[in-house]
Amino acid sequence: MTRFREQIVRLKAYEPGRQPPGRLVKLNANENPYPPAPGVLEALAALGPDDVRLYPDAAARLLRARAAKVFGVTPAQVVAGNGSDDILTMIVRSFLDPGDRIAVVDPTYTLYETLAAIQGATTTVHPLGPAWSLPASFFGAAVKVTFLPNPNAQTGTLFSRRELDRLCASARGMVVIDEAYAPFAGVTAVPLLREHGNLIVMRTLSKSHSLAGLRVGFGIGRAEIIAGMTKVKDSYNVSVAGQAAARAALDAAAYTSKTVAALVKTRTWFCRELDARGWCVVPSSANFLLAEPPAPGAAALMVLLERDGYLVRYFTTPRLHSMLRISMGTDAQMRGLLACIDRWCSRSPGVTRPRNGRRVP
Ligand code: PMP
Repeated sequence: MTRFREQIVRLKAYEPGRQPPGRLVKLNANENPYPPAPGVLEALAALGPDDVRLYPDAAARLLRARAAKVFGVTPAQVVAGNGSDDILTMIVRSFLDPGDRIAVVDPTYTLYETLAAIQGATTTVHPLGPAWSLPASFFGAAVKVTFLPNPNAQTGTLFSRRELDRLCASARGMVVIDEAYAPFAGVTAVPLLREHGNLIVMRTLSKSHSLAGLRVGFGIGRAEIIAGMTKVKDSYNVSVAGQAAARAALDAAAYTSKTVAALVKTRTWFCRELDARGWCVVPSSANFLLAEPPAPGAAALMVLLERDGYLVRYFTTPRLHSMLRISMGTDAQMRGLLACIDRWCSRSPGVTRPRNGRRVP
């Protein structure tokens, strides 16, 4: 007989983007194709034996001070995490009892539901409406925590400041705005913290700052909220290397702006290229594109592209199964991907072109 908790026996574990061995171009986990700022590698190279031998600063004071400056808040309003996934863990530990509910949209980042389930909480799913818009039911939901990425995960679509304001004002519990992709949209909900005590904004250095491998993210909120979340975090949750690299990454604002702008430019260009080939592309404000390919279709094309050395993301869920999510790489990588797409999508025998135009669910 199993000794696991009932929730864990029933749990469907989160599936990260695949990482098969070999030299594949990874366009399946929204990682950044550019190297981190030069200062990051210098900071890592400068680490000495004591940095390895001793525990890190549990409160990540220097890092939080830097982050607070960047986000325009006080250090007491920032908690650092082992990636922003760690901030999510702090949130579910802080606010969810067994039997509680959270609200999410569909499609979105599925880890919210997984972490809530580990806590014994259940999830109310609100399907996005036409053109991936927020449904009326999502506002004022009677749940403990409402999670919403902005731009949204999987679709890349952006919600307006006014919608987020309304969401916070109408929510009966906490509202988490996950800004993993916000640097690519040039937006932030941080100013809404002045009006809404129930808001937590999440940021990560994984995507915009090319630091996915070192795992650093932040939770930003009112000081009393952050103090409570800090009580439940793992004590030494951000490593010495992570803290040092993150400080250097935050210091390199000009470098980050340059690489983010390059990825936005690539996204605009690549969107046009797919459009011209008859794909239905969702307008994206993130560092990836969600798009429906023509024949042979998403599932088959994913396999063919992987054989050619390109990993893209395919979801089997009902609203995404006809689409691929493609992270933006360097221009050279994206040209290589287009060449493979042209091989499989227009020259295969029996290929038919689908209707052209933007996808509206
Ligand atoms: N939120 C969203 C919406 C994401 O897509 C991701 C990346 N999978 C994360 C949070 C977690 O990022 P990290 O833990 O690397 O900060």
